[in-house]
Amino acid sequence: MLLDCIIVGGGPAGLNASLVLGRARKNIILFDEDKPRNGVTHESHGFITRDGTTPSEFKRIGKQELAKYPTIAIKNEKVEDVKKENDSFLIHTEGGDVYRSKKIILATGLKDVLPNIKGIEEFYGKSLFSCPFCDGWEWKDQALAVITENERAFHLAKLVSNWSRNLVICTNGKKVLSNEEKEVLNNKQITIMEDRIAALQGNNGQLEKILFNNGKELLRNGGFVTADLVQATSLPEKLGCRFNAIGGIDTDDFGRTNIEGVYACGDNSLIAPAQLIIAASEGSRAAIGMMSEFVEEDF
Ligand SMILES: Cc1cc2nc3c(=O)[nH]c(=O)nc-3n(C[C@H](O)[C@H](O)[C@H](O)COP(=O)(O)OP(=O)(O)OC[C@H]3O[C@@H](n4cnc5c(N)ncnc54)[C@H](O)[C@@H]3O)c2cc1C
Repeated sequence: MLLDCIIVGGGPAGLNASLVLGRARKNIILFDEDKPRNGVTHESHGFITRDGTTPSEFKRIGKQELAKYPTIAIKNEKVEDVKKENDSFLIHTEGGDVYRSKKIILATGLKDVLPNIKGIEEFYGKSLFSCPFCDGWEWKDQALAVITENERAFHLAKLVSNWSRNLVICTNGKKVLSNEEKEVLNNKQITIMEDRIAALQGNNGQLEKILFNNGKELLRNGGFVTADLVQATSLPEKLGCRFNAIGGIDTDDFGRTNIEGVYACGDNSLIAPAQLIIAASEGSRAAIGMMSEFVEEDF
C-alpha cells in the first residue's frame, strides 16, 4: 500500500503534523521510538492548557487524540532506514517491516550532549536544566549555578539572573568570558568560577554541592547548563538533507527541505527556540505546507 505520508517522531512536532494531515484525509503512519528530548524531566511548562504536565502524559493525550481518526495509524517503533526511490520513499523499521509513502516528515528531534562532568546526568532534568523559560519559575531566588563551557555563557548568565540573582557561573576551567563580560557580571554581583569541576554532589537528582579539582566547594540547589545539540537520528543525512550553519535541517517556512517530498519540523531544524509549543506549531505548518503540494499535484 502506498501511504500519503510517513511521519517519523511522535513529539509535539510529529503529533501535530499527524493531526493536521489526518484531518486533511491523508493516510499516514506516525512512527515513534518514544525517546523525547525532555524525557528526563518530571514536568514540562509553558504550553498553555498543559503547563506542569509530565512529558509522558503530554504524549499520551496527543496519541489518544490521534487515535480517533481512521486516517492515522500510530506505531511505537523506530525507523531504521529510509530511501528515496523515484517518486516515493521506502521505510524500514527496526522490526524489519517495510512501508512506502509519497512523502515524509522528519520530526525526529535533537539529543543533548552534556559537558563531561562527573555526575551531571543524575541531576539533568531534576535540578539542572537547559532552558530558564521552561524551568526558571520553579527555581526563582534559589542558589543557582550556570555550568557552561562555551560562548553562550554570558547570554545564559544574564538570562538566568532574571529568575535568581544568587548566581555563580562555573566554566569548568574554560576561558569563555571576556574581561568586559566578567566586569558586567561582577557589577551585578554575579560570581564567576573558572576552576575545573571535579564532580557534582547531591541526592536523588537534587544538586547540593559542586566540587572543584583545587578542593574548593560550592553549595548550590540547582541551575542551568549549556548542552551541545546533535540530531537524534541519521535519517536526515541518509536522505541527503542539507543542514544549516548550526547543524539544524535546512528548511523553508513550511518545513520543506532541499529533497523533494521531505519535510522537517520541530527541534531538528534548530531555527526557533526549543519549546514544545513551537515544535507543535512547526508540525502544523509543515503539514499545511505539504497539503498545498498534495493539492497542486491533484490538479
Ligand atoms: C531537560 C529539558 C527540559 C525541557 N523542558 C521543556 C519545557 O518545560 N517546556 C518546553 O516547551 N520545552 C521544554 N524542553 C524542550 C522540548 O523538549 C523540545 O523543544 C521538544 O521536545 C521538541 O519537540 P520535537 O517534537 O521536535 O522533538 P521530541 O520531543 O524530542 O520528539 C522526537 C521524537 O522522535 C522520536 N524519534 C527520533 N528518531 C526516530 C526514529 N528513527 N524512529 C522513530 N522515532 C524517532 C524520538 O524518540 C522522540 O519521541 C525541554 C528540553 C529539555 C532537554
